[in-house]
Amino acid sequence: MKDKVSLHRLRNILREMHQDVIAMKESVKDEEFSDYIKMLLFQLKGAREMSTQLLRSIQKDNTMDRGQRLRSVITLEVGHGPHPEGFEPGAVDKRTGTEEWKMNHICALACKSYLDEVGYEDVLVTDENNYLSKIGWNNQKSDVFVSVHHNAFSSDAAQGAEALVHAKLASDSDRKLAKLCSHHFAKVLDITDRGIKTRGLSVLSGAIGKRWRDTQAVCLVEPYFITGSDVDNHSEWSRKAGIALGIAINDYLKDG
Ligand SMILES: [Zn+2]
Repeated sequence: MKDKVSLHRLRNILREMHQDVIAMKESVKDEEFSDYIKMLLFQLKGAREMSTQLLRSIQKDNTMDRGQRLRSVITLEVGHGPHPEGFEPGAVDKRTGTEEWKMNHICALACKSYLDEVGYEDVLVTDENNYLSKIGWNNQKSDVFVSVHHNAFSSDAAQGAEALVHAKLASDSDRKLAKLCSHHFAKVLDITDRGIKTRGLSVLSGAIGKRWRDTQAVCLVEPYFITGSDVDNHSEWSRKAGIALGIAINDYLKDG
């Protein structure tokens, strides 16, 4: 990814130089200097072509073919709920009595059915052993691991999409996935994109501690605030959020 950005930059610089030298050629009268400029133009043209070819080969390498992508292992962990040591509802919207864990469930299941439909073969929704100290333990060699939660705040005016990554242990892959998630939540739910937040999440360190390859992406999502006064139908919002999460995960895997 970094290589791609540098190459794009290099290509732009080369194109500008090429154009500058072409403009110079028009105004130069000196014969010897004009030969030198011709040679420079020839070299710049070659360098531009080479950078284009390099960029193409990198893009090819980075893009997983469809079959390979659809075999990716995706784990969606439902935050809170019943667990071996009891029950934990997560945040509760006092206005409607809506419990977070129920919305987390709806969101994860909607995401799974979206991804199943796209053709992904290995999408696991886990809602066992998801109490706080065990979150992320169900990571199991996933290519994408998402801990599904919802946000809450004391004021019902707060609204917006967020995705969280670990403050110290997050990788570029984690940040890339998180950015796509909050972007798609905001778009589908028509709310503000509050973007990536970092926190020292014990929740994610469980998954990150078991990171099995660099490309594995780990994040925690909070599609919207269940306490927001603008939420007219929690189940519907969370179902839509699940589809947005599916779109984000597919985008992440498509891009490599
Ligand atoms: Zn939560």
